Parts: sequence; C-alpha cells; structure tokens
Amino acid sequence: MADRTVELGEFGFAGDDRVVPFQVEGLDVRGRAVQLGPLLNSILDRHDYPPAVARLLAETIVLTVLIGTSLKFEGKFTVQTKTDGPVDLLVADFTTPENVRAYARFDEEAVASAVAAGEASPEKLLGTGVLAFTIDQGSFMQPYQGIVPLDGSSLEEIAGVYFRQSEQIPTRVRLGVAELYDRDQTGKPRHAWRAGGLIAQFLPEAPERMRHPDLHGGDGDDRDNDHAEDDGWAEARLLVDTVDADELTDPQVGIERLLFRLFHERGVRVYEPNGVYDRCSCSREKIKGVLQGFSAEEIEASQEDGAIGVTCEFCSTTYTYPVSELENA
Ligand SMILES: [Zn+2]
Repeated sequence: MADRTVELGEFGFAGDDRVVPFQVEGLDVRGRAVQLGPLLNSILDRHDYPPAVARLLAETIVLTVLIGTSLKFEGKFTVQTKTDGPVDLLVADFTTPENVRAYARFDEEAVASAVAAGEASPEKLLGTGVLAFTIDQGSFMQPYQGIVPLDGSSLEEIAGVYFRQSEQIPTRVRLGVAELYDRDQTGKPRHAWRAGGLIAQFLPEAPERMRHPDLHGGDGDDRDNDHAEDDGWAEARLLVDTVDADELTDPQVGIERLLFRLFHERGVRVYEPNGVYDRCSCSREKIKGVLQGFSAEEIEASQEDGAIGVTCEFCSTTYTYPVSELENA
C-alpha cells in the first residue's frame, strides 16, 4: 500500500472488488469500505447455493475482506462460523495480499423448510454457536484465534464485539448484500449478486481517549454504549449507523460517494484501493501431501477403480490421484 494520501475525488472511483482505506481526521476514525461484484459472483455461481445461504456467505466474505486487507504482514485471515442451525458452517479466508475463497455447509432440506416457513433470517439460519477469527502468519508463528459467541446477533454486531474484545478498539461494521436483476448485451435477463461493507474504527492519537471508566452505571448494553463519552466516536458511530444496505451495494453510489456523504464535513481522505480476487490456494501437491498421511487401509477404503478423487470445498476443483502415486511417496 502506498503512503501517498489523496483528497477524495482526486482519482476516479475505485470500482468493484477494491477495498478503499479511508481516514476521517476530524473524528479520529480510520476504516475501509468495499463493494464486491465479480469476485462475489464467481464464488457464489460456482457453488450454486440457495439464495438464503448465498446471502450469508456473501456477508462473511465482505467481513473477511474488510479485515483481511488490514493485515500488516504476510499471512492468512479466516472467518468461520460453527453453529447448530440449518447453515452449520460458513468459512471465508483471505490470503495476503489479495486472494479470497469461501464456502458454506448446510442441510438442504432444513434450509428449504426454513425458507418455506418464513424463518430464513440470517440469525435463524445460523442458529447458535461460535464465530472464530483466525490470523495465521505462517509456519513460524502460532496462529491467533479470537472466538465470539454467535447467539442470534448479526455478523455486523458480532464483528464489533470481536474488536472490542481482541483489540479494545471501538469498531462499527456495516454489511449489505443485494441481488440485482438486469439484462446482458443480448437482452437476456441476468441475475447478479452484490455486496458491500464498511468498517470504521476509533483510533485517536491520545490513547486515553479510547479508555473509559464506566462511570455512568451503565444499562448493561456495552455494545452500543462503548466510549459514548467521546464526542468524536459518538458522532462517527451515528453517521455509520445511517448507512443502509442499499447504499452499501448500489453501484451508482460507489464507495467514494458513500464516504463523502457520511464524512465530508469532517475531512475524509481515501487512500489507494486494494484489489481482491477469487483465488483458491489449493494445489495438486498440497492435497497429495494430505493423502500421503493416510494409512494403507484408509487409502484402500477411499479409492475407487485404483484412484482417489478429492474435490476442493472452496473452489470445486477435483484432483485425482492413482493409488500407485500415493504409495510410492
Ligand atoms: Zn481450491
């Protein structure tokens, strides 16, 4: 990422699949925002999930991209849910500097009946369980994992809780997903997914402004009352809360216009965007390495006609290994 800062409007719009870092000096807020188009469609079209599941995975992908692009080192950032609802697993990971992959695991019948019963809100589809954020800096470092309970709150809210717990940084996250219907060049109806998101964090130069003794006797709702006494953060939080899902996903609005609408009175600056791409990190060699850890009995049990086929859950690529290749390791 270049250090050069530019005033909003100095360059053209970042466009889809490009994470735009921003800073609002007047409010001591820094953040990132993005609209996802092609990346999201290539992931979701490949898997052909029911719309309710696609929507959940899209939110997870936006969250992953917003946080992953903030890593200051080489590594991998993963967001993963594990819950007891019809959609029991969502996983998205971001490998620096720009690669994203994701998949969902769900019970098809349970999702269909939840949709039919009008019980397909994200919270209901997930049920209760945990959301884990994992930062992996490679083989020489212990991965860091933060786990937050998923208890019927939205991913937006859960992400805010994670940042308060792990980094003590007041954080507001907004996520939006939309389905667009338009026509291609030949006039055929076309369906496309869009998603957008924004993360805003309160990072004042004087660290004591971030700490706050709870003198108010509080009403117990820490999530909304954090740092309420700091006027800058209170204002930023209120502004971010005015964003609606349509604005986050509308290609006509774009990230820069949205940021301008929210923060122009406080001097918002945007920085050079970070492009993100639908790219899996699986390879024939890596999966072969896993299979080579299998015992002779396991290989025998997994083989069919003298070969083992493995399909990557993320990108749906199938790799086939003749048993002889694995035995000769
Ligand atoms: Zn793959």
